[in-house]
Amino acid sequence: MEDKMYPALQIDRSKLADNAKAVTELCGASGIGVAGVVKVVGGDPICARVIYDAGCKWIASSRIDQLEAMRAKNPDIPLMLIRIPMVSEADALVRAADISLNSDIDVLRAIDGAAGRAGVTHDVILMIELGDLREGIWQESEYIEIAREVEGSLKNLRLAGTGTNLGCYGSINPTTDKMNELVAATEKIEAAIGRKLDIISGGGTTSLPLVISGGMPPRVNHLRVGEGIFINKDNEDLYDIRIQGTHRDALTLEAEVIEARVKPSHPIGEIAYDAFRNKPTYVDRGERRRALLGVGKVDYGYLDQILPRTEGAELLGASSDHTILDIEDASGEIRTGDILTLDTCYAAVAFLASSPSVRKCYK
Ligand SMILES: *Cc1c(COP(=O)(O)O)cnc(C)c1O
Repeated sequence: MEDKMYPALQIDRSKLADNAKAVTELCGASGIGVAGVVKVVGGDPICARVIYDAGCKWIASSRIDQLEAMRAKNPDIPLMLIRIPMVSEADALVRAADISLNSDIDVLRAIDGAAGRAGVTHDVILMIELGDLREGIWQESEYIEIAREVEGSLKNLRLAGTGTNLGCYGSINPTTDKMNELVAATEKIEAAIGRKLDIISGGGTTSLPLVISGGMPPRVNHLRVGEGIFINKDNEDLYDIRIQGTHRDALTLEAEVIEARVKPSHPIGEIAYDAFRNKPTYVDRGERRRALLGVGKVDYGYLDQILPRTEGAELLGASSDHTILDIEDASGEIRTGDILTLDTCYAAVAFLASSPSVRKCYK
């Protein structure tokens, strides 16, 4: 067997399954089905299988290429595209996904054409803008008109429901009021087309607190959850809400120490700009033991997205390919060749999973 190489994104399948099970059971108790969103792990098909088997009813990603890879490995899993599709993606979409989120009539017409050519029916969810100001139809007259056209003329599409996205651009909180607005918009569409819709998709991880508090209107029966399954830190860190039976460390970063020695803590010489055109300031704490890790911002994006688990170790800084730690007060002696484990936040995992230099490892 080849030796393990670093940096590694360590994926604990049983913790991931626990997280998916806890989230889907919590939602299931309120009649809500969960689409597990795998874009944060680059659409990893093994993770998709784990969370599907643990109770997610769909697997969702923002990227067609990720859905294609999953379809090839897991042909039995219902797949959902959650970034509204591009016209140029229509043919690939109807092959790679069963259902997609949409907000544009030109795109819907293109998908209808593609579905006709492929001989399939494609399910669509109309995204309603509730104020977060990313994707979604804002005017009532427009969503009714689009729904009428999909229902009446686009014969290769099935209008499966409505949805909304909150907490992404405008940082808008999903409240009961917002969810009631979504239900009201849905009922207007239902009145216009003369039938009930199957799905009302009330957001992502940021909507879970509403499920826990019992504030979700009963008609909202679908959520698209990524962070809350894979990372599971935001609701606890930001809103003090923890779902029972979940783990915060299903995904961790393992990195190798490539230098460990005592050095001055303040740079010596004229201070100009760092690797990212910043002019930082440094605190002189005398000579201290430091460690250099063979992983950098190119791999995890932002320094504030990773956290060493080694007690007493402190992140000092990073450049593209190096991360620098103060280990003067760290527990245990840290030497070159040691592997350190770091906790990861959402953006770090998104970067790590897409870096070709980071190995995904499963246990
Ligand atoms: C990324 C995304 C989600 C999942 O968001 P999480 O915060 O990871 O749960 C849901 N819906 C859409 C449209 C998304 O782009």
